[in-house]
Amino acid sequence: MTGEDTGKLLEFLDGKKEELDFVQRRQVEEMLRSYRRIKSIPADEYMEYAMLMNEADDVWHKAKEADDFEMFRPVLERLVAFNRKFAGYYDPEKKPYDALLDDYERGMTMEFLDRFFDTLREKIVPLIRAVGQKPQIDDSFLHRHYPVEAQKKFADYLMEVLGLDRNHCGIGETEHPYTLEFNNKDVRITTNYKEDNPTFAMYSVIHEGGHAKYELGIRDDLQYTCLAGGSSMGVHESQSRFYENIIGRSRPFIEAVFPKMQEFFPEQLADVTAEQMYRAVNRVEPSLVRIEADELTYCLHIMVRYEIEKQLIGGTLEVKDVPRVWKELYQEYLGVNVPDDRSGCLQDSHWSGGSIGYFPSYALGSAYGAQMLRNMEKEIDVWGQVSKGDLSGVSGWLKEKIHQYGCLLEPAELVKNACGQFDPTVYTDYLTEKYTKLYRLD
Ligand code: ZN
Repeated sequence: MTGEDTGKLLEFLDGKKEELDFVQRRQVEEMLRSYRRIKSIPADEYMEYAMLMNEADDVWHKAKEADDFEMFRPVLERLVAFNRKFAGYYDPEKKPYDALLDDYERGMTMEFLDRFFDTLREKIVPLIRAVGQKPQIDDSFLHRHYPVEAQKKFADYLMEVLGLDRNHCGIGETEHPYTLEFNNKDVRITTNYKEDNPTFAMYSVIHEGGHAKYELGIRDDLQYTCLAGGSSMGVHESQSRFYENIIGRSRPFIEAVFPKMQEFFPEQLADVTAEQMYRAVNRVEPSLVRIEADELTYCLHIMVRYEIEKQLIGGTLEVKDVPRVWKELYQEYLGVNVPDDRSGCLQDSHWSGGSIGYFPSYALGSAYGAQMLRNMEKEIDVWGQVSKGDLSGVSGWLKEKIHQYGCLLEPAELVKNACGQFDPTVYTDYLTEKYTKLYRLD
């Protein structure tokens, strides 16, 4: 990728842009961009960084297991130092954290994110406080015994509802669920079955299924080019989180799938209604672990990480102070006490993988999703279809507006196509409406 010939070839093609068709031109643009970015880092430094990341993953696993931040600290210090340095190579004109954000959501800036997260904090924190004053939703029936075999059948059924063709999308098991894509004919998702909580597998299948739908929907002519694959992290998360929360945790969807759930788990759900299930899967509970967070508190977990990353890269926070600041912010935003670093700042693998600037994509993706819903509702009868267990209209809409393009369009263009002008209050309004009704706040 960094060879002299590659550079010459790309510059040559770039100089002949008008002779290329749109797909070719976009390939050259994307490759030239990657080339310049990676080329800006001296090879020996990049090699050192790659070796560090390899080591970091191992150290992080051990540190998490031992609940020992001190073990991870020197590695994280070096990772942060490298990322600060690389940011300067990428674009010395930009603020370092802005230069890093560019990797995950092109053009994203702290100025934009500060405003976005301020809006979220302003609306969501009081909403969570209000929910906390109300009687808690009973979800005890979700913690009965749900055998893995029945859960697997239920997962198969969910894949069918999602419209995932098993000839092109496999499902396996791993500790942390994820999606692996080879091309638009071969995508694989994983999940994890917990016998005392069937919703973990249920929602991870729907979430990863959303990622899979994206990859499977990309146009054939983009396959095996650098334009195959999802556009940005934020756009990818908008798809997974759309299916998981906006559709999967809606009343019409639960009403549609609940009879089948009762078939798979007849004893466990004999005394439960669809309405009780709908309420249980939307139970709000400020908690410690991001990947287990509910829809309402989720973004606050992201805000904690955003604040810390911003300060680490900005040079106003030292790595040794991360555990303390993590605990303070969890107390401030979520009102929860972080008892140890294992369930605190060591919980996620992102930093050990060198990904600094990734987290905001999750929150942006959620906000994009709410705007997509509003636009989708203008064009199709979303809830009429979903209540019948028919997601084809939803899938078709997303494929047309987003999936088909792969990386052919810039992320900002895609977001504009599907969402219109970005407005975080659409998302906070969506949350306010949903949780006000659910917890009878008015
Ligand atoms: Zn995801």
